[in-house]
Amino acid sequence: MTAITKAKHLIPAGLIHRAAALALTSVPYITPTKLLNLVRCEAEKLRRIARLRSFPYVAIIDVTNTCNLRCPYCPTGARRDSGRKKGMIEPETIKQLIDGVGKYIISANLFNWGEPLLHPQIAAIVRMLHEARIFTVISTNLNIAGSNLLNRLCGAGLDYLVVSVSGASQEVYQQYHRQGRLDLAIKNTRLIVENRRGKNGRRPVIEWKYLVFRHNLHEVEAARNMAKDIGVDIFRAVRAGGADESEIKDGQASERKLRVRFCHQLWHAIVLNVDAGIAPCCFMFYKKDDFNNFSQDIFAIRNSERGLTARNLFNPSNINSLPPDLQHPCLKCGLVHEQPHLHDYLKSNPNARREHRTGGA
Ligand code: SF4
Repeated sequence: MTAITKAKHLIPAGLIHRAAALALTSVPYITPTKLLNLVRCEAEKLRRIARLRSFPYVAIIDVTNTCNLRCPYCPTGARRDSGRKKGMIEPETIKQLIDGVGKYIISANLFNWGEPLLHPQIAAIVRMLHEARIFTVISTNLNIAGSNLLNRLCGAGLDYLVVSVSGASQEVYQQYHRQGRLDLAIKNTRLIVENRRGKNGRRPVIEWKYLVFRHNLHEVEAARNMAKDIGVDIFRAVRAGGADESEIKDGQASERKLRVRFCHQLWHAIVLNVDAGIAPCCFMFYKKDDFNNFSQDIFAIRNSERGLTARNLFNPSNINSLPPDLQHPCLKCGLVHEQPHLHDYLKSNPNARREHRTGGA
């Protein structure tokens, strides 16, 4: 088996395709300053350094915590209360982020727990980031009426669009994307492909993301063909996390699950919520788990008490610095519970109970 075949065997093909597309399309955004910071940040990560001198190079910005659909395994769709007011992020907060760390940020994901296209100024936000030379990614259900916003988004310089559609017929699609319309999502995907073709351009790159459950497994191939027919660049069938219903066998029409054993985001990402709260990572949903609030003092955010403790959890040499009864949001995280060096410590700490980070089952 050659090295490439081995890599393909270990890493799902869809993921390789996606990583290659992301890497290639983000190259024009990389400056020497960003590259140098990335290397510094990765070196700190490799050495498990807790107190950081590097800046984050990925921004995850939840532009809204509202959604028009009711997908049951999404905490927003399931209407769980995060402790945050429902609303839209202030574009001024994003401007402050750009002023503070824009020259180090390579890419910005403008989504996490809400439907980003509901933000009335989403196109202006994309343009602002694009002009600051930051690669932009949006993930959406594309259930919005009218072509105006989509044309403005493409015109603003959006680089990568993930369309979440988990079914090839309305009957199957609506079992997960409750209150959603498949025909609208498809019509809008076509519009974006045509818009891109009209400009003779390649952006945004379009990815169709199909969350695989037992109820929609049989429509994966039909959806893959639809995506190809429309002109979508990447089709990914991904197992949905958490739900019993997503327990299907490896290789059954979906990508194998990649086992991640380390927390990367604690080093390289800044996760900004609608209310300007800074979360530890994109998996954390509740306000009470935030590390702090956004300010332009990025080192104060990065090296807050909670941030330092979280990174210390991943460094076996720092285990003695952890109080025996430590209370910390990351103590509920599966990644922390899978660290062999924390095995005894977690057993003896009464506050370290593994829980779902979004409050799911
Ligand atoms: S909750 Fe887990 S994934 Fe998130 S920052 Fe903490 S350790 Fe990392």
